[in-house]
Amino acid sequence: MKKLVLLILTVCVLTSCAPARTFDDNGKLNVCASFYAMYDFARTIGADDINLYNMTPSGAEPHDYEPTAADMARLNDADIFIYHGGIDSWAEEIIDTLPETVRVVHAPELISTYYPDDPHTWLSPLNTELEFNAVCMAFESADEANADKYRARADEYTARINELDAEYKNAGFAGKTLFVSHGAYGYLCGELGMEQFALDSISGESDPSPAQMAEMVKTIDEKDAECIFYDPLDTSKLADAAASEAGVRTEPLSTFENDSEERDYVTVMRENLERLKSALN
Ligand SMILES: [Zn+2]
Repeated sequence: MKKLVLLILTVCVLTSCAPARTFDDNGKLNVCASFYAMYDFARTIGADDINLYNMTPSGAEPHDYEPTAADMARLNDADIFIYHGGIDSWAEEIIDTLPETVRVVHAPELISTYYPDDPHTWLSPLNTELEFNAVCMAFESADEANADKYRARADEYTARINELDAEYKNAGFAGKTLFVSHGAYGYLCGELGMEQFALDSISGESDPSPAQMAEMVKTIDEKDAECIFYDPLDTSKLADAAASEAGVRTEPLSTFENDSEERDYVTVMRENLERLKSALN
């Protein structure tokens, strides 16, 4: 927190002594997104009609990330800031310090079921549809001249997310157990009638104890599981250790917390679906 206060002070000093780094002066809506999933939703809806900046750089793990002073200066200059909460904790701490000119969008605001210990709402396609709507409504009201274009893009992509949702629901995963290193799939598992067994939720910050490891291996054996999935943004160390004890394999499964620029939500979620099908069916 001390670091964050320092960061805010630095921003105040920067903004009062020198012009802040700003967006291109092209008359478009200036949008900041707190991390990759939010950035991806905004670019799908906004396309070339907005100036968009991702506050969490490529390759960074958003749970632990804190933006730079220059990024914070840019955020102060934005028209819209899209954040999620839970994962981008720095954002929750600074939203009250932003100028009134920054319209803050809490992407999950339309989602009725929220698990306090699992912020990864967007890994459920139905939740992502609601987040698309929240972002689209903010764009429509902030930039009425382009409102029809924002809504058309959101509707077109929401239809694709609907197809994705049907593919997940028809994949025959009900009753199965998903073994993962990072417990990010609670919303998806809840919707599909699956159970999630997450190594990080049994071990907390440390490696699992021998007793926890034995319990995990026993559960993998009981469920006749073939695979433990790890988040490619994290080390696979924990999953590898458990998999080697249990005699199963490991595979990456994206949390969409960060990704490379050319990969959008449906692409990544469909890749996840194929990995799940090959390991669970
Ligand atoms: Zn996460």
